[in-house]
Amino acid sequence: MRFEEVAKAFSEIEKRSGRLEMTDLLARLFEKATPEEGERLSYIIQGELRPPYEGIDLGMGERFVLEAIRRASGYPERVVGQEFEKEGDLGIVAEKLLGKKRQQSLFQKSLSVLSVYNSMLKISRACGEGSQASKISRLVELYNNATPIGAKYITRFVLGQLRLGVGDPTVLDALSVSHEGDKSWREPIERAYNLCSDIGHVSRVFLEDPQKVKEFRIEVFKPIMPALAERLATPSEIIGKLGKCAVEYKYDGFRIAVHKKGERVEIYSRKLERMTAMFPDVVEAVKKLKPKEVIFEGEALAFNEEDKRFYSFQETMHRRRKYGLEKASRQYPLYLFAFDLHYLEGEDCTTIPYLDRRKKLESFLPHRIIQTSKMRIVEKAGEIDSLFQAALGMRLEGIMAKDLDAPYTAGKRKFAWIKLKKSYGKEMDTIDAVIVGYYRGKGSRTRFGFGGILVAVYNSDSSRFETIAKVGSGFTEEEMEKFQKMLDEDRVKRSPSNLDYEIEPDFWVHPRHVVEVAYDNITRSPTHTCGRKEGKGLALRFPRMIRIRDDKGPFNATTTKEVEEMHKFS
Ligand code: AMP
Repeated sequence: MRFEEVAKAFSEIEKRSGRLEMTDLLARLFEKATPEEGERLSYIIQGELRPPYEGIDLGMGERFVLEAIRRASGYPERVVGQEFEKEGDLGIVAEKLLGKKRQQSLFQKSLSVLSVYNSMLKISRACGEGSQASKISRLVELYNNATPIGAKYITRFVLGQLRLGVGDPTVLDALSVSHEGDKSWREPIERAYNLCSDIGHVSRVFLEDPQKVKEFRIEVFKPIMPALAERLATPSEIIGKLGKCAVEYKYDGFRIAVHKKGERVEIYSRKLERMTAMFPDVVEAVKKLKPKEVIFEGEALAFNEEDKRFYSFQETMHRRRKYGLEKASRQYPLYLFAFDLHYLEGEDCTTIPYLDRRKKLESFLPHRIIQTSKMRIVEKAGEIDSLFQAALGMRLEGIMAKDLDAPYTAGKRKFAWIKLKKSYGKEMDTIDAVIVGYYRGKGSRTRFGFGGILVAVYNSDSSRFETIAKVGSGFTEEEMEKFQKMLDEDRVKRSPSNLDYEIEPDFWVHPRHVVEVAYDNITRSPTHTCGRKEGKGLALRFPRMIRIRDDKGPFNATTTKEVEEMHKFS
């Protein structure tokens, strides 16, 4: 498969906003792809080369890409710089300048998807002395053989700016459509994906033999997609929904999945990144656990014995930096509160009921700093309320109610888990929203160049982001500077293609950063697009910035459906 064909499809995708059209365009590519090409293609579409937990980074900055364009195009540095200034997008600069040169070029090899992928993998793997020079040379070689449109997408890819706005669900749909002409294979494909979080691997297996995705099994060191929680507003609603259920404390820490096989231990974040090095104390404790092969998950956070209180992950990290790891670990030791089990000694536990998983988890825990989450089985709303109050008393976020019979719902938001947070009811309500744009500072804020953010929630039905608030308060001066720097790096010229909006910010940014935003209530407004009905969307009243949620990715933000639910109670 020629890379140019893929680049043309990307260009079409960028012009479309409908999920169905995008799915069809991708399905047509998968139809023609061999399993190997399909695997590489799926990674490329996501702007990746390998699954996220392998932590591969292309490591090419603008400066190096500018240099490669200069060398491949033959234009002087000044011209390349001016074009960049004008276009603000190096992809377009590469397309334009290499296109002009192309007319005189005779010895062009046609680039295939596989050769582009292999070169990019080599670029990412070059390290040590002279690695930048060899990265640039490889990119120049790619440019020499690429068509102008191919050069545009290669450039955006190496800079980490592909941003097609195609989410995983669209790729999964496209695979199904490529085989059957409809979405009938979506469910087994999605299940396989949720069990390994490796979109390339799933694509390859499916394109080799669709039946094989049905036989997918969990593997140690391939993190599974975390299960997600629904929310309800009161203990009695929870009892109404689940009846007799388990109630656990909800710890406001850092969600991690622990994988152990023999002596090897790895830790993955909720965003499926490998974080092993950040948790040496947890790794040591896990090594001593009885099971030889196990995958379980929990929340890591610090607890201070003296004042008997928990510290959020942010506070924990802050203290670790301030007092140094050793002193902080003594005063504020990190605990892992394990709350679920995925795999034990060769057995996939995700299919067995919650209570059985819990019993198995308790068969080898607690151990040292690894505890099990506090859990009680309850039948009455009053019991939930007492546990909720007790959790708040310990400075925890609230509670999680769990369906005793439900399997582990990897990657899904189901009523198997229901959260009740302190922010409900009388106290402060918050959502996790994605930043899609920002505003210039006015008045006293001019000197920061930052005046607030436009935020959106995720509509999981349409796979699109929908705006919900313009947040201008709650930022400290330090934060304003930090935000401006951070968002400047993510600035894009056009609005994100997977965003529905009415109002425009001064600058658009790629939807990537998630922030927790507090508000007083939710109202209907024509300015926002969240859950829009008859021209009016849902909007937050008096939104205030609380904190950045580094642990969440854009697709883990609060969903439109959740906001609609909350609107009913506000
Ligand atoms: P939220 O981030 O508000 O959607 O709440 C869901 C998150 O609560 C999960 O992703 C976990 O990180 C966290 N959590 C804390 N304690 C528990 C628990 N006992 N069971 C499940 N999740 C928990």
